[in-house]
Amino acid sequence: MQLKCPVCGLPVSVPDDAVPGELVDHECGVALEVIVDGGRILLKPFESAGEDWGE
Ligand SMILES: [Zn+2]
Repeated sequence: MQLKCPVCGLPVSVPDDAVPGELVDHECGVALEVIVDGGRILLKPFESAGEDWGE
């Protein structure tokens, strides 16, 4: 499916089987987190903010 990047406004290709919490890298350099709100799939900027995720 095609969603819109909330950061740069360009289209983002998201796998049809994307699940909430999945991260999608966009060409503008931001990581986007897949979220579901009221049955709709949305993207929000994923803020790592220097946290240690162990990977
Ligand atoms: Zn973008």
